[in-house]
Amino acid sequence: MSLRKRVDERSAKAFAEAKEVIPGGVNSPVRAFKSVGLTPLFMERGAGSRVYDIDGNEFIDYIGSWGPLIVGHSHPEVVEAIKRTAEKGSSYGAPTELETEMAKLVIERIPSIEMVRMVNSGTEATMSALRLARGYTQRSKIVKFEGCYHGHADSLLIKAGSGVATLGLPDSPGVPESVAVNTITVPYNDLESLRLAFEKFGEEIAAVIVEPIGGNMGVVPPLPGFLQGLRDITSRYGSLLIFDEVMTGFRVGLHSAQGLYGIDPDLTCLGKIIGGGLPVGAYGGKRHIMEHIAPSGPIYQAGTLSGNPLAMAAGYTTLRLLGEPGVYEELERKAARLEEGFLGNAREIGIASTINRVGSMICPFFTERQVINYETAKTSDLDKFNRYFAALLDRGISIAPSQFEGMFVSTAHTDEDIETTIAAHYEALKSL
Ligand code: PMP
Repeated sequence: MSLRKRVDERSAKAFAEAKEVIPGGVNSPVRAFKSVGLTPLFMERGAGSRVYDIDGNEFIDYIGSWGPLIVGHSHPEVVEAIKRTAEKGSSYGAPTELETEMAKLVIERIPSIEMVRMVNSGTEATMSALRLARGYTQRSKIVKFEGCYHGHADSLLIKAGSGVATLGLPDSPGVPESVAVNTITVPYNDLESLRLAFEKFGEEIAAVIVEPIGGNMGVVPPLPGFLQGLRDITSRYGSLLIFDEVMTGFRVGLHSAQGLYGIDPDLTCLGKIIGGGLPVGAYGGKRHIMEHIAPSGPIYQAGTLSGNPLAMAAGYTTLRLLGEPGVYEELERKAARLEEGFLGNAREIGIASTINRVGSMICPFFTERQVINYETAKTSDLDKFNRYFAALLDRGISIAPSQFEGMFVSTAHTDEDIETTIAAHYEALKSL
């Protein structure tokens, strides 16, 4: 794809205006393009694999709203479901049958989930799952892995990935020391460090929370045996194993990452895809644990808009579309082609490159090292990434503006989109 003259005039003006009234001009930090030193593009619309900004620029999009849009932007069936539902009412604060249908579908597809509670974001899902784990085990400490991001609840904003890593804010001000002391962090894919933590604090650890595939330090797959090791250690000490599948849930397969690797966690957090682009999260797991949640049990968690009909309609329709035959095979085929093309380009041009991929999550790093944790992710040449990001944007390809995020392939990406992207990647690498 050839270099295009992109005009960002309207976006620049909109950003200046936004900065006057919204901190940093954005409602979520990485959107501001701060680390890549560019003006963020203000979007006007999305259709299928494409997004269009307010200056009229068109991009093949691999952000997909940071994961939710696995069937592409404004999929006609998702839009129709939202419309049909909205015509009847947007929210009741009373139960609807759709919520039960949604719960049944999630339970059917993810065998470790026997009961599920809907919330409004991934942050709420992980925060609630931790409260449940602490209430259930009557223990205070939790273990998380460096470079994993689980939303912005206090106890999880410690050595976190995603925007926290992008902006270099490993430990956010505002998280009290009294909270931080209960979060133990260990390197991802490092069972030995985890064992040491359990030898020291095992009887106090309520839960281990993990992204079964790291997606917030770039894409970092679990090494063979890592997830099983987590299952074994937590079981031995009576701690709960929480899979944060907010990103990987229904992304890497119909049964999510736990299906892919054959692990049976106690609790699972979901978000993104299950909302089909509307604000949703969920946490679920074993019945004997979930029944401790109010009103069936004493552990409190609630939400005015939880189980919102529009969000349930969008999410249910998306999950239904994903259940059609061959969907994940197609995603795998297209993402594998992207990986192959990227690797070929890097080899031909002679640029150090490691590409991590699981299904439709893919991430090129500018390093020769194998990337297995946050330390090795940081060996990527970030300056090169930033220039690569800009070079792709100039060629009509939109990826997340950070090395510590992955690219998402959707069912809307055509073979032609993939080939165009590989060609743009070649030129972008060459321009470095
Ligand atoms: N967990 C994971 C694994 C995530 O990737 C994210 C968001 N990227 C969250 C939790 C938080 O979700 P939300 O932004 O919806 O609060």
